[in-house]
Amino acid sequence: MSRILVVEDEAAIAELVSLNLRHAGHDVALAASAEQAQAEVDAMLPDLIVLDWMLPGQSGLALARRWRESQRTRELPIIMLTARTQEADKIAGLDAGADDYLVKPFSTQELLARIRALLRRRAPETLGATVTIDALSVDPSIRRVTAQGRELRLGPTEFRLLHYLMTHAERVHSRKHLLDRVWGDHVFIEERTVDVHVKRLRDALAPAQRESMIETVRGVGYRFVRRRHDVTA
Ligand code: CA
Repeated sequence: MSRILVVEDEAAIAELVSLNLRHAGHDVALAASAEQAQAEVDAMLPDLIVLDWMLPGQSGLALARRWRESQRTRELPIIMLTARTQEADKIAGLDAGADDYLVKPFSTQELLARIRALLRRRAPETLGATVTIDALSVDPSIRRVTAQGRELRLGPTEFRLLHYLMTHAERVHSRKHLLDRVWGDHVFIEERTVDVHVKRLRDALAPAQRESMIETVRGVGYRFVRRRHDVTA
């Protein structure tokens, strides 16, 4: 469950979006102006913000810019909503610091899909508790990987990849599936990219002799397997 702040002054849209987000299991806060939105953010940092461009008083664009300048809110994922369809507007929205951009009228299914993608990409720490298999531990809250207490150094993509594989262990995942679940948005990413990161992940696990836990399933993809223990050992 993620905490999502919806900043939208049109009550009907705010209501529809928040209803769908609650349905998807999220905790939703609403704000109808930039001032209310700032008060919400000051009170509690959300995991993601859906921000309408056109607000009474200060615009969503100015608000996004302000949040990007502040240390506390710099990393906040923001999806902008707008009635503007000009390419220049889209660029202005992204330049102001929005991570994604949706033109009204939009389908709530598409908004939910974009939110899922952004949450996966930007906030692995919302993915939950520490996972441990055969003394290999992944703690998403502090992005730490340890093997028998010894810390291993992983890049952010390798970290997300390992966390996904461990939380879905023993199952075979195709490259396409991994791109969808680990990368989130993969329109411009080739499947070969997965192989590159799997190799890096194995290299990172090698000092702890855990590299063989990432198994290649020929012609299909990859899976995380428990180590085969010798019963006499
Ligand atoms: Ca509006």
